[in-house]
Amino acid sequence: MSAETLLAVENLKVHFPVRKTFLSRTRRFVYAVNGISLTLDKGETLGIVGESGCGKTTAGMAVLNLVKPTAGKIIFRGNDISDRSVLSRAERLVLRKEMQIIFQDPYSSLNPRSPLNQILDVPMRIHGLYTKNERKDRIAYLLEKVGLSPEQGRRYPHEFSGGQRQRIGIARALSLDPVLIIGDEPVSALDVSIQAQIINLLMDLQGEFDLSYVIIAHDLAVVEHISDRIAVMYLGKVVETAPYRELYTSPLHPYTQALLSAIPVADPRVKRNRIILNGDVPSPRDPPSGCAFHPRCPRKFEGCDRIEPQLGAAENAHQVACHLY
Ligand code: SF4
Repeated sequence: MSAETLLAVENLKVHFPVRKTFLSRTRRFVYAVNGISLTLDKGETLGIVGESGCGKTTAGMAVLNLVKPTAGKIIFRGNDISDRSVLSRAERLVLRKEMQIIFQDPYSSLNPRSPLNQILDVPMRIHGLYTKNERKDRIAYLLEKVGLSPEQGRRYPHEFSGGQRQRIGIARALSLDPVLIIGDEPVSALDVSIQAQIINLLMDLQGEFDLSYVIIAHDLAVVEHISDRIAVMYLGKVVETAPYRELYTSPLHPYTQALLSAIPVADPRVKRNRIILNGDVPSPRDPPSGCAFHPRCPRKFEGCDRIEPQLGAAENAHQVACHLY
C-alpha cells in the first residue's frame, strides 16, 4: 500500500446465508464476493468488470457499508473501516460524506415528490454543511457543473430525460464534496450517445473536484476510456487486473479475452475473432472446484478442475489468476 493509496480492499468476502428449504436448518451460502484484494490510489479510476452475478456490485456495496463484509479488510485513508459498528457516530458520518455512489437507474434513486433543488439540498442539510444561502449558491454551481441550468432546479425528476437524471445523480454525489465515488453501472441504462456524454462529464469533474472513482460495469467498452486500471471479476473473484491499455492490448485470462472479443469494432475492415463461451455463469451458491472458470474455459487442461489458480503477477502491474501463466 503506497502513501497515495486511498482505498485498499484485502481478501474481502461477502457470503449471504440461505436455507436449503423452508424447513431445513442446513445453512448454505451464496459466495457473492469470495476473497478479493484491490487498491485505489488518490485521483485514480478503477474499473471493475464482469458478467451479472460476478459480485462486482456487492463488492462496491461492502465498501460503502451497504452490506456487511463476512471477512477481510477495507482500509480507507489508512484506517480499517471494515466493521463500522466500532466507529463513533461522527466517524461514520464523515465516511458517509466522503464516499458517494451513483446508481444505475437514476430515476429510482431520486425522490419523485421533490423538486431538484430540494433533492440536492437534503444531503447538505443532513450533514450540517453550509448556511441556507450558501447551499442555494452551491446547488446552482453544481447544476452548472453537470450541464444543467439553475432554472431547472424547480423541476421534478419525471421532467428530465434519462441522461439529465444521471447528471442530477452526479450533482447529488458531488454536493457533499466526496473523495471517492462508486459508480454502479452508471451509464448502462442510457443510450450509447448519452453514455459517452456522461463518461466525459465524469472525467472532466475528476480533476476539478479531486475525485477517485470505482466504476462498476458489465461491459469492458464502457470502462475503457475512463479507467486507469481495470479488474475483471468472475464468480466472486478477481481473475485479472492490469493498467487499462495493457488489459486491452494484451489480455491474458481466457475470460478477459472472451469479454474483449465481444466488443464491436466500428471499422468494418477490422475482423475480430469472437470467442463464444459455452453455458452460463455457474451459481455462486455452488462454485465449481479448482478454477471456477474451467467449465466454460476454451483453454482448460488437466488439473484446472482441481487446483485453484491464485492471482499473481504476470508482468509489472499485470496480475492474472490462471495456470497458463
Ligand atoms: Fe482456463 Fe485453466 Fe486458466 Fe482456468 S486455470 S482460466 S480453466 S486455463
